[in-house]
Amino acid sequence: MLNFVLFGPPGAGKGTQSQKLIDRYQLIHISTGDLFRDHISKQTSLGKQVSALIADGQLVPDAITIAMLEEEVEKNPGTKGFIFDGFPRTVAQAAALDTFLESKGSAITAVIALDVDQEELTKRIAERQKLTNRVDDQADKLQKRIEEYFNKTIHVLPYYEAQHKLSKVNGIGDIDAIFAELCKVVDQF
Ligand code: AMP
Repeated sequence: MLNFVLFGPPGAGKGTQSQKLIDRYQLIHISTGDLFRDHISKQTSLGKQVSALIADGQLVPDAITIAMLEEEVEKNPGTKGFIFDGFPRTVAQAAALDTFLESKGSAITAVIALDVDQEELTKRIAERQKLTNRVDDQADKLQKRIEEYFNKTIHVLPYYEAQHKLSKVNGIGDIDAIFAELCKVVDQF
């Protein structure tokens, strides 16, 4: 299996680039943020459990997130592979993902980190707020999400760097040019 993690702070373009990658490579896209939003809109018990945290810009606890992710992987046996988008966001999630994939005789192939500076991120999320009305894109919640990223999520990078699986791609500029850089990484495997 080919398993890629698309990594980056809020607003880095993970969603946009994931869509282009799944179109080209026929991989299954798993976005934990999309899964949570789906649970919230369907008012499932999981949705009710996590909606306040997400609206506030905080990370959902690892145990809940890992269980949901594993369930989603299990729904797709026999696939060519996955693009994980927005997961892992903590080192504990990264370690759990390694253990889980290993139990299936698989592993993470590569982690592609989209590099975007904070000024550009804030600008992009302000634009996205106009289009999607995500409650967690409002300024104070966004600040919380950026804090969560720098407090917890950024530590996932050295975790994968130590495994020699990390590739950084400049995430600023033309969407298709960024995509071409991502493809160069994917095409190595
Ligand atoms: P996203 O759409 O990836 O920006 O995710 C939206 C929100 O869902 C995040 O701000 C978190 O509250 C929650 N979330 C998504 N993925 C994770 C994760 N891997 N771990 C914890 N919380 C997550």
